[in-house]
Amino acid sequence: MTFHVDTDLMDQLKAIVGPAGFREGEDIDLKNYKDWMGARSICPPLLLRPASTQQVSAILKACHASGQAVAPQGGMTGLVSAAAPQENEIALSLERMKQVIEVDPVTATMTVEAGVELQTIQEQADSLDLLFPLDLGARGSCTIGGNLSTNAGGNRVIRYGMTRELVVGLEAVLPDGTIIDSMHKLRKNNTGYDLKQLFIGSEGTLGIITRAVLKLAPKPSSQSVALCGVENFDKVSALLVRMQSALGANLTAFEVLWNNTYVLVDEKVPHVTVPLGAGHAYYVLVESMGSNAENDAELFVDALGEASEQGLVVDAVIADSDTKIGSLWAVRDGAAEVMGIGFMHAYDVSLDIADMGYFGEEVERRLREVWPDAVMGLFGHIGDGNVHIIINVGPDTKSLHLQIDEVIYRLIQELNGSISAEHGIGVMKKPFLGYSKSEAEVTLMKSLKQAIDPKGILNPGRIF
Ligand code: FAD
Ligand code: ZN
Repeated sequence: MTFHVDTDLMDQLKAIVGPAGFREGEDIDLKNYKDWMGARSICPPLLLRPASTQQVSAILKACHASGQAVAPQGGMTGLVSAAAPQENEIALSLERMKQVIEVDPVTATMTVEAGVELQTIQEQADSLDLLFPLDLGARGSCTIGGNLSTNAGGNRVIRYGMTRELVVGLEAVLPDGTIIDSMHKLRKNNTGYDLKQLFIGSEGTLGIITRAVLKLAPKPSSQSVALCGVENFDKVSALLVRMQSALGANLTAFEVLWNNTYVLVDEKVPHVTVPLGAGHAYYVLVESMGSNAENDAELFVDALGEASEQGLVVDAVIADSDTKIGSLWAVRDGAAEVMGIGFMHAYDVSLDIADMGYFGEEVERRLREVWPDAVMGLFGHIGDGNVHIIINVGPDTKSLHLQIDEVIYRLIQELNGSISAEHGIGVMKKPFLGYSKSEAEVTLMKSLKQAIDPKGILNPGRIF
């Protein structure tokens, strides 16, 4: 492949970061261009690994002057092919900016560089009896910069919110190299536009996030988890309402597996042993966390007992040790580990909880009309209105991507839901953005992009 990257610019960029700050040719690791989806694999002409905000700024200033496109990278665990460089883009990885700068127990904040892995942040908080509540399966590889750029969700959104709600301060570099320093610890700050939000969830298209001040929570001292068998979706919704009112702020997860997913986990994830029979329509994992171990456990058992008396729960298993808590969560996490079927497309849609029972039945009906033998499973963070679908329609599953998308996203559009609850649009969902955003909304997004990145050098072709 021939690259059309200005050699003077390349020399200038290498000089900015010094010998340890770049890689070229065969020295560029596969992980810097092959993303998790395995969908793209174009080796970039140059990988930059800046060590400071000033270097990021100097790089972007030079690229802006030359109109050179740049793909920012965190841990490369994103699921929409947004961080993988496209043709003639240089890659900019935050992998050398991974310092935890400060933990402040009084304001309950942690100040970090963007390349710090999520798990490191969780562990640092935990060692000081604090909690950074964001949690997702990719915790060991994904970076906080990537989490912020995708506004990641995960398992505890019902209690603590998405990444957007876990940030008080941010530093980002604009495409022309200007540093926007909003690094403060203020929880209240109504001085005009909340500029940090521009960079959160915008998938690296408006600026490169270099540092952040994160919000920490007190570390809970109790954890109770149960897995419940439920007969129909109306009862799942009623159970959610019941648990919200009985457990209040202690409710930290309300995760649901449809029967199809539970059966797949049972049959196709060898290391998971399912604790309930496979005859229930839905399986609900309820988790409570609080600060009063004895009372919290009693409250949890009472709440489930009442739900059972009201006929909302048919069968349930409550974990009474850390190991059992782990094995109940393993059933939920098993949904992402189904093996032996072949490639499975994964979807992350969201919709009104009132429509979700219908959605589950209707989406399966429409998919089976086209692919009668498809293997599929539904599950998700139902307390947040977020459903994941995994599907394999046979040996051509990969190439039939757009056709499967069309069936699922059309129904989402009819129900006024969102084609992306948590993973973003990237390159993969671009053709369907209009199913969830109006023309006026897309026009406003494009105006913002044009105002901030007039030369279109940051992650071009992502989102729209
Ligand atoms: P990357 O993949 O490297 O990048 C993601 C996007 O952010 C790209 O557009 C990239 O250009 C941009 N970017 C990265 N760093 C920066 C930066 N510093 N400044 C500007 N732009 C930047 N997501 C959820 O929301 N919930 C889940 O429960 C969840 N579970 C997952 C489980 C697994 C096993 C996997 C593999 C992924 C999961 N994800 C989930 C996807 C999730 O989006 C990513 O894991 C994570 O947020 C991305 O972080 P990253 O550092 O890997 O970013
Ligand atoms: Zn998820």
